[in-house]
Amino acid sequence: MFSKKIGIDLGTANILVYLAKKGIVANEPSVVAISTLDGSVLAVGDEAKEMIGRTPDTIVAKRPLREGVIADYHATEAMLKYFISKALKHWRIFKPEVMIAVPGGITSAERRAVLDASAVAGAKATYLIKEPVAAAIGSKIPIGSASGHMIVDMGGGTTEAAIISLGGIVSFQSVRVAGNKCDLAIADYIRKKYNLAIGEQTAENIKIKIGAALPLEEKLKIDIKGRDMISGLPKIVTITSDDVTIAIKNTLEAIISTVKNVLHEAPPELSADVMEKGMVLAGGTSLLRKLDQLLTEATGVPAYVTEDPLLAVAQGTGLALDNLDVYKKSLLITR
Ligand code: ADP
Ligand code: MG
Repeated sequence: MFSKKIGIDLGTANILVYLAKKGIVANEPSVVAISTLDGSVLAVGDEAKEMIGRTPDTIVAKRPLREGVIADYHATEAMLKYFISKALKHWRIFKPEVMIAVPGGITSAERRAVLDASAVAGAKATYLIKEPVAAAIGSKIPIGSASGHMIVDMGGGTTEAAIISLGGIVSFQSVRVAGNKCDLAIADYIRKKYNLAIGEQTAENIKIKIGAALPLEEKLKIDIKGRDMISGLPKIVTITSDDVTIAIKNTLEAIISTVKNVLHEAPPELSADVMEKGMVLAGGTSLLRKLDQLLTEATGVPAYVTEDPLLAVAQGTGLALDNLDVYKKSLLITR
């Protein structure tokens, strides 16, 4: 029977949609703009993100998954509806099968919320897959083999570290620390050191343009406009990559201890496999300069960034849907 298959990476920062034979067909921020007057959904994705910080009192822009949990059911449903119908376009007469990657630490109530939202959004069947498993599949790791494979997915709101063997998660830990917390730490540091108030978006920009987890041999610099907190006037300050390294040190420590905990909890045979093969890093935060080196030095296990860190989870959902018989036992839930 003819059926459409849609893979969705329901990330805290970005939502990606994968369509069989087409690849990634949507990649937008996971933001929903809602009217405070009647609760109606005004915009989703790119359009909603534009509204952050620029909206009148009657509009709130929400990140429904900000910390890796479904903070807002209504907004999550609106988001899934929007992206499923966008992916289907003129195929709308066929109800699709949908594979959604969700945070590994998701509660059963949240699972139900995602399944309901997907059904309401028009899915014929919905499969849920844990994000690190999808990231591993998308990174072409042979997860079905009887060997330990380690994956660390560092996104916007959460870091999820897992060791996978025989298609299942053997050791797992998730922490609500990733890119967003780095942004906050950068804004905080700049406020204290330079008396300069900057927004989260600016802080993220600094991190992406010049940020590094360890000092760089060739320092990077950027000029930042903000508001002087004493005079109240606009001013420009030059920020260096070393500023960012110092600012995010403690935040990265939390990620390192999560990775270490997963290594400690693994059965010895699997740790030996991981020592030998190394760990694979995925998610947007794995693009931070020298984070692979920092993790390698801190854990003694070589860390490698996967080929497409921002796309790996979405690609994994697509591969899992296309090979359901192979991956069925790696799924969280089916309906
Ligand atoms: P999620 O899966 O939670 O939606 P993503 O994997 O899409 O998150 O990653 C988003 C995070 O990655 C954001 O915090 C963003 O600032 C960060 N990020 C994206 N590109 C880079 C980069 N080049 N360097 C450092 N951080 C980055
Ligand atoms: Mg993600």
